[in-house]
Amino acid sequence: MLLERERERYARQILLFGEEGQERLKDAKVFIAGAGGLGCPIALYLAVAGIGEIHLVDQDTVDRTNLNRQVLHWESDIGELKVRSAETKLREANPDIRIKAFAATIDETNVRNLVGGADLIVDAMDNFPTRYLLNREALRGGVPLIHGAIRGFDGQATTIIPGRTACLECIFPEAPPAEVFPVVGTTAGVIGLIQANEAIKYLLGKKDLLANRLLLWDGLTTTLETYTVERRLDCPACSEGCEHAGQGEGVRPVPGDPWKQPLA
Ligand SMILES: [Zn+2]
Repeated sequence: MLLERERERYARQILLFGEEGQERLKDAKVFIAGAGGLGCPIALYLAVAGIGEIHLVDQDTVDRTNLNRQVLHWESDIGELKVRSAETKLREANPDIRIKAFAATIDETNVRNLVGGADLIVDAMDNFPTRYLLNREALRGGVPLIHGAIRGFDGQATTIIPGRTACLECIFPEAPPAEVFPVVGTTAGVIGLIQANEAIKYLLGKKDLLANRLLLWDGLTTTLETYTVERRLDCPACSEGCEHAGQGEGVRPVPGDPWKQPLA
């Protein structure tokens, strides 16, 4: 049930998807991996949308080079843990939701515990080795993973539904080289909000996700394009045990089949 002040806070959303939709968001638990350039806008917009429980994980502390894009961290937060800085702002933005902040580096030993119980994983990382770990955990636990990545004026996003769509390793079998990459804050904002929008849509049971589609944003030409992607039968992460493996074609989502029960 929504509180009276929640009906007021979310009035414009309730016009859009009803109290039932808002209650779905309130009941949801979303795991956001990273409180940096992508994690800040994702967490802020999911918080103000009324996602009931947000789990945020990041080991880093705020430094001045973060401030061009990591919009929950301000000059006065330099030296503070990013998850603490983010938690403070999110609590002020929306005191009616729960924020659980963990200062940790995601690795093989803790990924299962950290992700445990989440309805959704949002990838706001800055490196592919950790993304692959999240992808494997998403596949193992059957939890959807919303991927996003940025560099310069370019960004990408896709939504992975375990067993139904291409996984991260199907799409990117090899990690790009690690680097200190250039980036403008607006790229993080655009891609982070596409990921947050995907999260809200998934939780509401909307069908037309970025599933088996890779979205590419080119901020210099101001173009968004989506490309079809498919499961790879030899994918080391998701092919084993797949009932569709060996049939000679990638698995596509069933047209018209919602990922979750749609709203009436
Ligand atoms: Zn795969």
